[in-house]
Amino acid sequence: MLARNVDFNLTRVCLECLFASSIYRIAVGSDGVRISMESALTARDRVGVQDFVLLENHTSEAAFIENLRKRFKENLIYTYIGSVLVSVNPYKDLEIYTKNHMERYRGVNFYEVSPHVYAVSDNSYRSMRTERKDQCILISGESGAGKTEASKKILQYYAVTCPASDQVETVKDRLLQSNPVLEAFGNAKTLRNDNSSRFGKYMDIQFDFKGAPVGGHILNYLLEKSRVVHQNHGERNFHIFYQLIEGGEEDLLRRLGLERNPQQYQYLVKGNCPKVSSINDRSDWKVVRKALSVIGFSEDEVEELLNIIASVLHLGNIQYGGEDSGNAYITTDTQIKYLARLLGVDGLVLKEALTHKTIIAKGEELKSPLNLEQASSARDALSKAVYGRTFTWLVNKINVSLTYKNASVIGLLDIYGFEVFQHNSFEQFCINYCNEKLQQLFIELTLKSEQDEYEAEGITWEPVQYFNNKIICDLVEEKFKGIISILDEECLRPGDASDITFLEKLENTVGGHAHLTTHKLADGKTRKVMGREEFRLLHYAGEVNYNVNGFLDKNNDLLFRNLKEVMCMSDNKILTQCFDRAELKDSKRPETAATQFKTSLAKLMEILMSKEPSYVRCIKPNDAKQAGRFDDVLIRHQVKYLGLMENLRVRRAGFAYRRHYETFLQRYKSLCPETWPSWQGKLADGVSTLVKHLGYKPEEYKLGRSKIFIRFPKTLFATEDALETR
Ligand code: ADP
Ligand code: MG
Repeated sequence: MLARNVDFNLTRVCLECLFASSIYRIAVGSDGVRISMESALTARDRVGVQDFVLLENHTSEAAFIENLRKRFKENLIYTYIGSVLVSVNPYKDLEIYTKNHMERYRGVNFYEVSPHVYAVSDNSYRSMRTERKDQCILISGESGAGKTEASKKILQYYAVTCPASDQVETVKDRLLQSNPVLEAFGNAKTLRNDNSSRFGKYMDIQFDFKGAPVGGHILNYLLEKSRVVHQNHGERNFHIFYQLIEGGEEDLLRRLGLERNPQQYQYLVKGNCPKVSSINDRSDWKVVRKALSVIGFSEDEVEELLNIIASVLHLGNIQYGGEDSGNAYITTDTQIKYLARLLGVDGLVLKEALTHKTIIAKGEELKSPLNLEQASSARDALSKAVYGRTFTWLVNKINVSLTYKNASVIGLLDIYGFEVFQHNSFEQFCINYCNEKLQQLFIELTLKSEQDEYEAEGITWEPVQYFNNKIICDLVEEKFKGIISILDEECLRPGDASDITFLEKLENTVGGHAHLTTHKLADGKTRKVMGREEFRLLHYAGEVNYNVNGFLDKNNDLLFRNLKEVMCMSDNKILTQCFDRAELKDSKRPETAATQFKTSLAKLMEILMSKEPSYVRCIKPNDAKQAGRFDDVLIRHQVKYLGLMENLRVRRAGFAYRRHYETFLQRYKSLCPETWPSWQGKLADGVSTLVKHLGYKPEEYKLGRSKIFIRFPKTLFATEDALETR
């Protein structure tokens, strides 16, 4: 059995066995394979426990982090909290994702092999198959923690291990190839992650009755459109721009009117970071081009897509002349020429629309010129709208190519984790609100599944105290007096509404709330760390100050009517799908960004609630993106933000450890003469006989219908140690 698990390409492999309390060390040398067993005690000391519920001192954060550290040093990046997988980004390629590894986890019980993202994948797959219940895997963690990598590993696991057929091959390829496409258009280099996803993603993988992956469906959330027109120092725009410029063929670039130099484009120079050592834009371009064909994009569609991408760059290079207070005019006619051609619009109409705005008042169209600042922001709004809508179009197009109905489903959620920066704006507000919702779901579902298991096993449930963050979700999303409602109200109010009046309204409406403070409301102690333009939310994960600057604009997300009109006139088939004429007729104001987000989150919660969840909690070990560095302070923060201690507390509230009678008896039967070599009677009686022989006290354990529940890790460890000294 061991030989099967040996990776011969490694000179030394460490295998964690059963409960990680005994470690088989395997040395593969010229003289063959040597296997030795380290004592349970020293192994535990060296590599920690593979399930946090087995920590002696489970309430100690220090002990938790120490366990993570021990394992990280041994390249054991995965650890469980019960059935939740905690993963620490190794920032180096580990030999743990081979086909052999996939095979090792296939059809094996969760706890019989060392923790792995494949174990979670396999477990969800088998639950879907045997219980016929849709599953979802929720992956969370801060930027750079390894969420997207984890989701790709899960997808690859299914692509390799699930049954296949010819037709399925295409779907598998499309599923896998959707990643490079979405990453090209939706990911960017940030300070935190060279390949940071700037949108949230929920993907259903659909399986047929034979368990073969036959389709998929993607929902995208809140693309960070502002990146199209602005990047912070050291960051880049979305990958696709650089890929096109670096990798695009000569005649393609000529057709698009582009030069092979990102520094030429205003939208690409803001972060002063055209090249990234870990990224090869030229070879990525080839990958993306191929992926687009695999997914089923025709050459024409690719051409139209690239016309749009190039147009955004040209838009960015449009410059205005004029006095600060006077009317703006366009000084760069070449860009207009290219735009007119690439988008199939009338150049003069576009020019007019980029310098004027029209409003409909009392049924009449009124046109007024824009000043410099207004014109630049109208241009940027157009770029953001075009890019954002094209991204959504792209997702829909992928969905069409993956469509399959009537299937069992495993959903993968790869969504932004809690964000706290020096300066937090509307985007962080939305992202952290999303995390509050997910935390609420997580607490509710983990508590519920604990309760369900106790009930199923006939064991009395002992209530657990926990912090219910519903109060914070309500503060954000409640009708009329939630923060989003108040923001929307200010956005709709004509006249002197501004970011500051929004802040004042917050103070007046929810100022008394236990989870909200502003400069004005703060007591003397907190005042000096609060800006005048900030409000502070006390999130479940800690305090965050939000600067209200730009909240109204970002929430309004306005695009002037005449710019919309020009886009509706475009010959570009993608754009005509993105900008619908019906939108022009609709006199109702479009929903604000925050309200749209709130609605889509509510739908997401519904989807997730209807499925059986598994969790992968990702942790980033350091800010330098370096292998082998374990930064205590950073990790402690994440343990807190991810609510891991709370999670462990809930899981440990009753019993630290539980196993099916059969598994338990199999492992320990040699410790008792009556159960050795085999127990003939009922399994429960066998376990009962065994633990009585071992001297378990009644308060240390309980026997359920199919499982033994052990309250303290030390009881189990004593039994483990007995196994060795036997
Ligand atoms: P997130 O999606 O959480 O922001 P990513 O999944 O993009 O983070 O991971 C950031 C980077 O960390 C990856 O580009 C990769 O270099 C590295 N990384 C993440 N997970 C792993 C892993 N399991 N093994 C090796 N490297 C990893
Ligand atoms: Mg990501």
